[in-house]
Order: sequence, then C-alpha cells, then structure tokens
Amino acid sequence: MMDLVKLWILSGTREFEFSKRPLEKITKKGIEFTNEEVVKIDPDNKTVRTKYRRFHYDYLIIALGVDLAPEQIPGLQENGLVLYELKDVLKIRDSIRQMKSGKIAIAIMGLPYKCPPAPYEAALLIRSILEESGASDSIQIDFYSPTPITLPAGGPQVSEEILQILQSKKIEFHGNHKTVVVEPNKLKFENGETTFDLLVAVPPHKVPAVVVESGFAQAGKFIEVDRTCKTRYDHVYAIGDVNQIMVTDKIAVPKAGIFAETEGVTIARNIIAQIKQEQESATFDGKGGCFLETGKQTAGYLQVDMFATPAPLTQLEPPSADYFSEKEKFERERLEKWL
Ligand SMILES: Cc1cc2nc3c(=O)[nH]c(=O)nc-3n(C[C@H](O)[C@H](O)[C@H](O)COP(=O)(O)OP(=O)(O)OC[C@H]3O[C@@H](n4cnc5c(N)ncnc54)[C@H](O)[C@@H]3O)c2cc1C
Repeated sequence: MMDLVKLWILSGTREFEFSKRPLEKITKKGIEFTNEEVVKIDPDNKTVRTKYRRFHYDYLIIALGVDLAPEQIPGLQENGLVLYELKDVLKIRDSIRQMKSGKIAIAIMGLPYKCPPAPYEAALLIRSILEESGASDSIQIDFYSPTPITLPAGGPQVSEEILQILQSKKIEFHGNHKTVVVEPNKLKFENGETTFDLLVAVPPHKVPAVVVESGFAQAGKFIEVDRTCKTRYDHVYAIGDVNQIMVTDKIAVPKAGIFAETEGVTIARNIIAQIKQEQESATFDGKGGCFLETGKQTAGYLQVDMFATPAPLTQLEPPSADYFSEKEKFERERLEKWL
C-alpha cells in the first residue's frame, strides 16, 4: 500500500482492504518480481543474495526504504501508538472515535523521518474527527518535536504558516522537545515531561539491517549519495528513503515518495545511457510537491525546490477542496502508472 493511504485509514475515509495492490503487477511491464527477503548485497562479486538464492547483477538499485525503530525509545511500544504502523493506525482511529475528553500527545521522536508534513496532517485530521464526534472542546492536542520549527527543510516562512494552521485548530506546537523515554501516560523529554491519555508517535527510523551488514552505511546512518544517486561501488545506486542526499551542511532531501520516484527516473535514464554507450546527463533535480491535508477533505500544497539558489525553496499553497481532489488523483495516477 502507499503510505499516504494510512492517513485516510486514520480519518476513516478509506479501509485497508481497498488500499492495496500486489507488487507482482509490475510483471506487466516485463519486470520479473521475486518476493524474497534480501539478506546480503555483495558489491565485489556483484551479487544479491535472498534467503533462497543468489542473483547476479550488472546494475543494482538499492531501494529498500527505512525500518521503523520504536525500540530505540524505551517504553514507547508499551505505552504509545505508532502513526506509521498500520496496526497502530487502526487503534488510533478507534481510540479517537471513543475519546470524550483528555489529552492527546503527538510526538516526533527521531530525525529524519518519512514525509515531514505527515505528522502535522495527522494532528489536523485527528482534530477534524474530534470536531465531528463533538468531543473536540474537551480534548487538548499537543505536538512535540525535536526541531525548533515545524518544518525545518521547508524554512521559517512555511514553518510559520504550518504553525498558524495548527494554532487555528487549537493544536499546541512544542519545538525543541526531544523524547527520551515513555512511561504509562507520561512523556519524558531531555528538557521536561508531560502527561497524556493517548500518545501518537513517529518513532526513530533506521536503514534496513542488510544495508549496514553489506557495508553500504554505518549503523544509525543512511546511504550517503549525491544527486546522481551513485554509491561508492561501481554500477550500484541508492534511491528513496534508504539514501541521504545533503543539500546544505544541515539540510537533506526529505524522505518522500515523490523524490524516490524522480530519483528512480533519473538513474534509469543514466543506466540506459550507459548501456547505449551514450553520455549520462540526468541529475536528480530535487523538485516536487506534496499535499498537506488539513481535515474535512481539504489540503494545502507544498511546492518544493530543494536545489534552488541561494537556498532550498518551499512554498505552501493555502488549503482548499481542490488540492484534496488533487491528492486523490495523485494516488490514482501513481497506481495506474506503476502498478
Ligand atoms: C503516513 C505517511 C504518509 C506519506 N505521505 C506521502 C505523500 O503524500 N507524498 C510523498 O511523496 N511521500 C509520502 N510519504 C513518504 C513515502 O511513503 C516514502 O518516502 C516512500 O514510500 C519511499 O519509497 P522507497 O521506495 O524509498 O521505500 P518504501 O516505499 O518503504 O519501499 C521499500 C521496500 O523495500 C522492502 N524491503 C526492506 N528491506 C527489505 C529486504 N531486506 N528484502 C526485501 N525487501 C525489503 C520493504 O518491505 C518495502 O516494500 C508518506 C509516508 C507516510 C508514513
């Protein structure tokens, strides 16, 4: 399933059963599909080993995404729910529907994380559900993030606009709050603590173990590449969430599907050029857009140009019903195009 659907499952407008597509469908494009876990990548011998067999490659594209690492925050799995985990999304949805009063804490617990606007969308959708259930006035929503502003990669202006949207929905943003431990109904930060009745968390992310074990990244890091997505090994590329492309010394390309897609197209062009013995000319342009759902079937649109000069540029188009329809269209088009 596409991750963005998780938010529609949270808001109750979509069921999981209607949100999946078998990856086998890519065979219709003449691509062989093997549904097995990769256990070793050996760039010296140009092989990839799964549990059951070994494949030889001429070109390798590593697109293994990230693993969620809730275990890195003691007490999180026992006392909180993980926004990016489907089984927990269903529990969050049911808890919110039943809640009559109390405190909801939403906390980003590690950086970087997938789709930087998604936790804010979740907060706004939760507020929207509560407004519909009639419990909204009795429920406080607090948002905790280790970053000082809402969306550092988007810059101060967009961060302020998102802050205003949150405040208009009585969602309190607490920046510079790094979670260290979760206890029953209690969140502890490096700089204080708070209580909650329901905790919705974005846990730390990590690269899949096979990436570290195969020597492509150190533990706690992602595969560092530049805009060509080439790794230090010949003919091996890393695209999507598994990689890290620095834009400035502090800002990296956000982990988003839209960038995974354009990185894939970029390297496909360059691999074709190599095979045809032509000049490789494609470079990942860092341009893309992402919807910011704001509840009640409305969405804003974040227009991003990560390599703009003199600095990365992000603009937020104000929320409207049209952008929400565009988001639905975005899903439809992707599914039709790729699967
Ligand atoms: C709630 C939410 C909403 C989002 N909304 C948006 C949005 O609106 N727009 C947007 O652009 N992005 C969005 N994203 C981010 C987007 O989903 C990711 O950035 C994107 O999926 C990354 O693609 P990827 O191919 O790098 O990784 P993935 O999509 O995670 O794919 C990696 C695949 O590799 C598999 N894998 C991992 N390890 C192994 C192994 N050892 N062997 C075999 N297979 C393995 C995984 O099972 C997975 O299928 C959202 C994310 C979330 C969580």
